[in-house]
Order: sequence, then structure tokens, then C-alpha cells
Amino acid sequence: MVRMRINRSATRKRRSHHGLTEPRLSTCKDCGAKYLRHRACLECGKYRGRLVEDVEAKNTKKAAKRIARIESAQQEAQAIEAEETKEAKETKETKKKETKSK
Ligand SMILES: [Zn+2]
Repeated sequence: MVRMRINRSATRKRRSHHGLTEPRLSTCKDCGAKYLRHRACLECGKYRGRLVEDVEAKNTKKAAKRIARIESAQQEAQAIEAEETKEAKETKETKKKETKSK
């Protein structure tokens, strides 16, 4: 068995480039929130003072979507629960049958 195919020095040299850089953040001139450089501000949807995205409309859409998603998830969970109870009953019945056949 090879104890050390690559020595520690080589490993550390390779990993010297693995460090993460901090995200480049700037403060928005319009609302004062932090935003990523070269991206539109997430708070007000402005890029260099120019409105590029209607954030309010988006937020209302997102909220509507979120509510719909939660409702569908709840329905799914209920369906799964119903199925599980069914399956449990079925397995019980099959077990009974098996014991009878034996
Ligand atoms: Zn902003």
C-alpha cells in the first residue's frame, strides 16, 4: 500500500488556490442596502440608479407562488398519509393471510 503518493507540500501547494473570496458588495445609493457588484440591487431593483426590475410586482408574484406551493405540499402530504394508512391496512391483511396459509 502506498502511504503517501503526494507529499504534504504538494497537497498544500495545490490547496493554496482553494480559498474563497468574499463577495464583492456595495451599498445601494437609492436604498442603502448591500448588493452584489455588477448586479441589480435586490431591494429596489435598480442598477446604477436606473430601474431595471419591478421588485414589488415580483415580490407579490413570489408570495402568491409560495402560498400555492405550500398548499400543494399540504395536499400531497395528506395524499401520502392516506396512502400510507391504506398500505398499512393492506400489509396487515396480507400478514393475516400469510399466517392463515401457514
Ligand atoms: Zn437598492
